[in-house]
Amino acid sequence: MRKVVFIDMDGVIVDFGHQIGIINKDPKISKEHKSSPDQIDGIFRDPQPIKDSIESIIKLYNSGLYDLFIATTAPWNNPSSFTDKRLWIGKYFGDLFKKKMFITNRKDMLIGDFLIDDRLANGAENFNGKLLRFGWDYEKKEWNEYRDWNAILDLLI
Ligand SMILES: [Mg+2]
Repeated sequence: MRKVVFIDMDGVIVDFGHQIGIINKDPKISKEHKSSPDQIDGIFRDPQPIKDSIESIIKLYNSGLYDLFIATTAPWNNPSSFTDKRLWIGKYFGDLFKKKMFITNRKDMLIGDFLIDDRLANGAENFNGKLLRFGWDYEKKEWNEYRDWNAILDLLI
């Protein structure tokens, strides 16, 4: 039976850090918004992907070993982010994640084998399978155990 893998978006598939860099240089954006960029309307519309993320996820999919799902949190007070995240997934993956997308603050309630996530927040810390900490920990300013997509592919394929 295929193992169930949940994949976070920001910091794992989506290079949200790069997007924040662009925002911080934009004089039209208020200080208030710069301090909480996830509240900016449209911020999730078109950020660039994290290096190797799209190709690696397609490899995981093509391996036939895994049933893949998105598990992302969208900021409640920025409702367009829910739509933008759904459209972003469609833009980069076509139908690969069609009807396989969880938008939730409670990743601890998901049932599966792996969660690939850069943070412990929103229930990731208490995910009931194995949490694969990915990429850059921007809170502690250090690399997580699985630094890039090659490390994930080495483990899973
Ligand atoms: Mg994240």
